Amino acid sequence: MLTLADILTARNAIKDIADGTPLVPSPFMESVLGKPFFLKLENMQPIGAFKLRGAVNAIAPIDPVTMPGVTCCSTGNHGRGVAFAARQRGIRAVICMSELVPKAKVDGIKALGAEVRIAGTSQDDALAESKRLCEREGLVEISPFDDPLVVAGQGTIGLEILEARPDIDTLLVPLSGGGLAGGVALAAKSINPSIKVIGISMDRGAAMHASIREGRPVEVKEVPSLADSLGGGIGLANRLSFSLCRDLLDDVVLVSEEEIYHAMQTLYYEDRIVAEGACVVGIAAILSGKIAKPLGPVATIITGRNLDMEMFTKIINGESIRLGDYTIEGLRYQRHGT
Ligand SMILES: *Cc1c(COP(=O)(O)O)cnc(C)c1O
Repeated sequence: MLTLADILTARNAIKDIADGTPLVPSPFMESVLGKPFFLKLENMQPIGAFKLRGAVNAIAPIDPVTMPGVTCCSTGNHGRGVAFAARQRGIRAVICMSELVPKAKVDGIKALGAEVRIAGTSQDDALAESKRLCEREGLVEISPFDDPLVVAGQGTIGLEILEARPDIDTLLVPLSGGGLAGGVALAAKSINPSIKVIGISMDRGAAMHASIREGRPVEVKEVPSLADSLGGGIGLANRLSFSLCRDLLDDVVLVSEEEIYHAMQTLYYEDRIVAEGACVVGIAAILSGKIAKPLGPVATIITGRNLDMEMFTKIINGESIRLGDYTIEGLRYQRHGT
C-alpha cells in the first residue's frame, strides 16, 4: 500500500531536479470565484511538465550497470520525463507512442536523447509495444500512472502546494490515468483529511470517469482532444491508480472541448500563461459553473506546456479548430461575465 511516507521519500529523490515549482495567485480567477485561486506552475519544469517528478523517482533505484534500460508508453509528457531522467543517469530509454501523439511531442522526446517507437492508434497499442520490449530486451517498463514510484513522485506536488498554502479548501486536478490525482489526493488528504480533491477530465474519452462509474477499469474510445495529454485508457489490469482515485477523489467533473478552448484563452489573456489544454480543465470547470462554491482557497495544477504552437495560435486568435471529425467553432476571447 502506498502511504505519505513513500511521497516523502520521493521528495528526497527528486530534490533539485524536479521540485520547487512556483505556486502563484490568479487575480482573475479569484475575481470569478470570490476565493483566492492558485496555479501550481508545473509547466515550468525542465521538460515542461510535471511528469518529470514520477519519472525521476521511478528511475532512481535503477542500476545503469546491470539494467539494459527503461521503456514506457506515453502521450508525450511521460516519455519526455523518462527520457530526461534516464539520460541524466546514463540509462537507455525507448519511448513507445501511438500515431495520435502530436509531432511536436515526438520531436521533443527525440531531442532528449531517447529512442522512439510509433505503434498503433491508441495508448493501449503503445503499451503493448512497450511490454514486448520488456520481454525481448529485458527493459524495465515505467508506467505513466500505474506505478507506485511514479504515483509517489507526482504526489510531491500535493506536499508542495499544502506547504505553501495549508489553508487550501479544494484542489482541482487534471485527470487521465490518475497517477497525478491519486498521488496528490493521497498527499493532501494525509496532511488535511478534510481537503476536497476533484479530478477533471474532458467529456470525450474520459477513461477514469467511466471506470469509477462502472466500479472497475473499462475501455473507452479514444478521440482527438484539445486536452491530448488526458487521452488514453487506464489499463484493464490497473493495479493502483484506479483504486486510489475511486477511494480518494471527492468527485470527477467533465468539461467540453469548447470549455477547454475558452479556458486556454482565459489563462493566456488573463494570466499570460501558455499551457496545454490538459492544464486548463480545472479553470474550465469553474468558468462553466461545474464546481460547487468552495469555502476557502482553491488551487489547480498547470500540468504542462508542451503543445502545438500552431494550434495554440489559432485558439488565441479565435479561429476554428478541427479535431478529427469534430470541429470547435472559432470564438474570439471574451472575458467571463462580460
Ligand atoms: C499526464 C498528464 C496529465 C494527467 O496525469 P495522469 O497521471 O495520467 O492522470 C495531465 N496533464 C498533463 C500535461 C499530462 O502530461
